[in-house]
Amino acid sequence: MSNVSGNLFVIAAPSGAGKSSLIKALLERHQDGSMEVSVSTTTRRPRPGEVDGVHYHFVSEETFLKQVDQGEFYEWAKVFDHYYGTSRTVIEKTLANGTDVFLDIDWQGTRQVKAAYPGVHTIFILPPSNDELERRLRTRGQDSDEVIAKRMAKAQHEMSHYAEFSYLIVNENFDASVNNLEHIVMCQRMRRSKQQIRYREVLQNLLHE
Ligand code: GDP
Ligand code: ADP
Ligand code: 5GP
Repeated sequence: MSNVSGNLFVIAAPSGAGKSSLIKALLERHQDGSMEVSVSTTTRRPRPGEVDGVHYHFVSEETFLKQVDQGEFYEWAKVFDHYYGTSRTVIEKTLANGTDVFLDIDWQGTRQVKAAYPGVHTIFILPPSNDELERRLRTRGQDSDEVIAKRMAKAQHEMSHYAEFSYLIVNENFDASVNNLEHIVMCQRMRRSKQQIRYREVLQNLLHE
């Protein structure tokens, strides 16, 4: 088609608010290669069912810190006692290819991305209540009671950063939230600055330029 660069989106939320499920559902609707989620690198252990290279690149702390020194991360942060980082080259290549990229990262990483890439679109997902957040963490059934208690305690702090984001989605009804996320993405694609490049020939023909 054209040389329109992809849009970069950051999606943040307290753990359990539903961001992974929302991104997954959106990608299932758009299997045309127009959007991708960035696979982060982490030092946390895989949860049951998590696949290396699909959900995360799972590495040792030593390897992670070496990658930090080599400038391989677009951003990185320590969250819940573990390191998480976003690969620089993958993001840059994917955007240059015209593909929209989602980063599922925390608020600390979001600050770094906003500084490095002012055009990023930032979205914060909130649960409808604290009780519902805890229920979701429990029904996901992948973390121990101790980990859940820790994540609930952290949730208050993470949610206090919501005002640093441009868009807010309260994830009560799942399908409605996927629709809202999709609308945010489509709005960016329809911006005149992008459409002018995408439809350069159409515009030339229409206006006899
Ligand atoms: P989840 O919260 O249940 O999805 O649990 P995870 O262990 O997958 O992620 C824990 C936190 O780390 C979440 O707030 C993620 O958004 C954040 N995170 C994941 N990958 C990255 C990354 O590459 N960079 C940063 N800064 N944060 C990340
Ligand atoms: P996160 O990636 O933010 O940690 P997940 O996507 O893993 O959260 O969602 C946490 C749990 O909540 C999952 O079991 C998911 O199926 C469930 N969930 C997500 N959105 C909703 C919703 N709108 N209503 C009910 N349950 C939800
Ligand atoms: P996950 O393994 O990420 O927790 O979610 C599994 C699938 O369940 C996701 O692909 C998502 O589409 C779906 N899902 C998660 N939560 C809900 C929900 O509350 N309602 C509906 N309708 N689907 C959900």
